[in-house]
Amino acid sequence: MTTPFRFTLAATDGRARTGTITTPRGEIRTPAFMPVGTAATVKAMLPDSVRATGADILLGNTYHLMLRPTAERIARLGGLHRFMNWDRPILTDSGGFQVMSLAGLRKLTEEGVRFSSHVDGSKHMLTPERSMEIQRLLGSDIVMCFDECPALPADEATVAKSMRLSMRWAERSKAAFGDRPGHALFGIQQGGVTPELRAESAEALQRIGFDGYAVGGLAVGEGQEAMFGVLDYSPDMLPADKPRYLMGVGKPDDIVGAVERGIDMMDCVLPSRSGRTGQAWTRRGQVNIKNARHQDDPRPLDEGCTCPACRSYSRAYLHHVFKAGEIISSMLMTWHNLHYYQELMAGLRGAIAAGRLSAFVAEFHAMRAEGDIEPL
Ligand SMILES: [Zn+2]
Repeated sequence: MTTPFRFTLAATDGRARTGTITTPRGEIRTPAFMPVGTAATVKAMLPDSVRATGADILLGNTYHLMLRPTAERIARLGGLHRFMNWDRPILTDSGGFQVMSLAGLRKLTEEGVRFSSHVDGSKHMLTPERSMEIQRLLGSDIVMCFDECPALPADEATVAKSMRLSMRWAERSKAAFGDRPGHALFGIQQGGVTPELRAESAEALQRIGFDGYAVGGLAVGEGQEAMFGVLDYSPDMLPADKPRYLMGVGKPDDIVGAVERGIDMMDCVLPSRSGRTGQAWTRRGQVNIKNARHQDDPRPLDEGCTCPACRSYSRAYLHHVFKAGEIISSMLMTWHNLHYYQELMAGLRGAIAAGRLSAFVAEFHAMRAEGDIEPL
């Protein structure tokens, strides 16, 4: 018998929650941060290394994979888990967001989105039905509804029209997803920064019924204050007994603020992408390893960190390999950043379970306010 998809809440502290999502491919401890494996790889990392940082689940991008190497090819090769050598849970997005942000020559209709590939200009059509088919071919454990997300700021009429289209697409996504034991389909709440529209969207999704719910349409340039403004009320509109996922977030302080407001899952390219550009995230804020102050510094990036970059290498070395354009620079910086993010999530989970989240958050902000260690 297939293990059912299940969410178990273990403890709450204020609005924050900690628990476990059970899937046939393993458990996901929440709040969870999902590293992004856009093109069937978390760039510069081996899957075992990603797992060693503490990640329980990865995110894959439907838009990128449908264009290259194509979902059909991945299915023929045994599915995405086998293809990329990651046997734990994978969540795939629907492709909707990236079609709107990356593809050329888009045409949006009630049916779906027709677009040309940013890779080779070839013509494609994404609909709720096609998105469900692609995510099934990939073998995704958590499938996202196909939706449309207008860039903010947008006027309320535009946001309302787009949200209602997404709700019709959510219904079509559910019908096309069908009955797949052990796999989950998440609905996506839209409605911009308008509470009435967020409520209308939450009700529409619950009428359809999903295994989890995402707060969508945020982290699209509205700023942290506006995002927290929406998170002050929108997660509470969604069922308490299902996971709540905030898509595309974010910086460490965004993550902490979202967890405080009742979010269970997040994903972002930031730790891996910024690692490749020489930016490290530490308990004491951001460190730019490109800076000349590090070139004679024998100390680790963060002496309290147990990742391979901090355990075995100096700031001087990390500075040198970045400047020299060496591949190990991306590897070590990405490993450190993913390790830091997962350590932050583990800290949040422990604090919520112990009922001391506010003390943990105060300490988090105090450490960051201190800033990086003094130069030598
Ligand atoms: Zn480290």
